[in-house]
Amino acid sequence: MSERLYFTGIGASAGIAVGKAVVLEAARPTLFRVPVARKDIEKEVERFRAARTETRRQLETLRARFEEEHRETAGSIFEAQLLMLEDSALIKGTEETIRGEGINAEWALRMNTHRLTSSFGDVDDREKWVDNIEDVHDRLQQVLLGRSDHHDLSEFDEDVVIVSPRLSPSETALLKTRRVIGFATDKGGRTSHTAIIAKALGIPAVVGLHALSRKIRSGDIVIVDGSKGEVIVSPAAAEQAAYVKLRRAYLEGEEKRLRISRELPAVTRDGCEILLQANIELPEQMEVALRHGAQGVGLYRSEFLFLNRSPALPTEEEHYHVYRELAEKSGRYPTVIRTLDLGGEKYFHEVLDRDENNPVMGMRAIRFCLARKDIFRTQLRGILRASRHGAIHVMFPLISGLEELREARQVLDEARDELRKRGEPFAEDLKVGIMIEVPSAAAVADLLAREADFFSIGTNDLIQYTLAIDRSNESVSYLYRPLHPAILRSIRFVVEAAKSAGIPAGMCGEMAADPAAVPILLGLGMRQLSMDAISIPTVKDAVRSLTLEDSRTMVGEIMALATAVEVEEYVQSRIEPRLPGSAVPATRVEGP
Ligand code: PEP
Ligand code: MG
Repeated sequence: MSERLYFTGIGASAGIAVGKAVVLEAARPTLFRVPVARKDIEKEVERFRAARTETRRQLETLRARFEEEHRETAGSIFEAQLLMLEDSALIKGTEETIRGEGINAEWALRMNTHRLTSSFGDVDDREKWVDNIEDVHDRLQQVLLGRSDHHDLSEFDEDVVIVSPRLSPSETALLKTRRVIGFATDKGGRTSHTAIIAKALGIPAVVGLHALSRKIRSGDIVIVDGSKGEVIVSPAAAEQAAYVKLRRAYLEGEEKRLRISRELPAVTRDGCEILLQANIELPEQMEVALRHGAQGVGLYRSEFLFLNRSPALPTEEEHYHVYRELAEKSGRYPTVIRTLDLGGEKYFHEVLDRDENNPVMGMRAIRFCLARKDIFRTQLRGILRASRHGAIHVMFPLISGLEELREARQVLDEARDELRKRGEPFAEDLKVGIMIEVPSAAAVADLLAREADFFSIGTNDLIQYTLAIDRSNESVSYLYRPLHPAILRSIRFVVEAAKSAGIPAGMCGEMAADPAAVPILLGLGMRQLSMDAISIPTVKDAVRSLTLEDSRTMVGEIMALATAVEVEEYVQSRIEPRLPGSAVPATRVEGP
């Protein structure tokens, strides 16, 4: 029996999980396109064939294991996967690509897998086939890269907690369909995309645990307390039982709380209505959003459409169908589609096939879209077409000044012209908003407000760039201070600029999800907040407990303070005690 270990990290997604640990060695590797010299091509094909033989051996072992346990369904999955290894489309296609293009097996395999998965169309079993092909692909890649430890998330038949040095955003998104009830990673900050997705999926998570993945073994019992940022490995039996009880109570309490909260309006005690919306990454999250009382979607991170298919890009039809589905599900409420924010931590290499020293400051988001207008126009046509089916707005990320907004609008006009030529209908009055997340955009918000239909402040990046802190680097997360006077002044300026120009300014960064920030944001004049769905009930409670008048008074006092520490102390002593359930916030539970 292993010794009890206790770790503290950053609570990234509230709730409690108790389950067996599955330790993943590393995140899915980033693959590169590497040219292979003519003379070495047959060797490369041989390397691929050897990987195929080893993969077949692994799959046969798994199939035998499952057959022994009479797990017919699972057994037949391996059967199907083994057939794929014989299948000429994947295997011959990859060999032909290695020879034809003179490139490495990994890249050739990736290309052929995507060719295959995107050729399936709408057949009944599409998802199953795609899952299987991707599993075979992953297994082959692991073998090619010399990693013996392949982890197939579909193998789990009990509740598990994923432990990993880091998880990529798309891996985290994949966890949704599996029996994964929690996760714990060595790296990652509170606002890394991985943390954001965990929250949106309602999976308890703790990140920034440093050495956890090296100290724990697969099969160890692990407790993840995402509310407190704690992880306990190999707890005593009584402690484990206590946490199982807490988990049950937490889940039951949550359900009840949601039912009640959904029905209540988000309005201050003196009658000011606030629009509370959800940030989502996957269309499947729409239901979670509505269950939590979201009034539409204030931020749809469309790049996840890409991340789930990379390196293949979504087609116009795919864009259109996803946005149409979102608009229809959202009903009378608006849905803001943010155009691709690729780059930064989001799989840059696979798009541009080259490296950057500092990708967060590099070719990301609108910069990437303006450099690849073909990709951008494809997305914009999808958005325009979907805009006929509901209240869809478009929003450009990472705008740093007026030139970019103008150029982006011009590309939008080109997309409109293309649709007109094709006789394809679209809504003529699509609203065009921008994210304010670069300090230069905040500084010229008055100029931008003349040419944008709305603003949405992205504090995750605005704080990162204003305070010069990598938002996914846990060692500087202590410097990540939303209440820094520099941030508050930026917000005030942006909101006032929007107000003078008569356009709405909302917020969709994580700061909008913090109930203690609500009176400040309301006092500064903000009326629209978009956040991970899970936070909506708590933020709504905060809105309902306040008056606008008090919020304005508090903001007057706060704006006179000089340091982040002073503002934080003010919030702790004057705001937090006034919030409903402040001593024990609604999403927080006490451990035994
Ligand atoms: C932000 O920067 O605040 C934001 C909402 O965008 P993202 O987190 O996707 O970068
Ligand atoms: Mg951002």
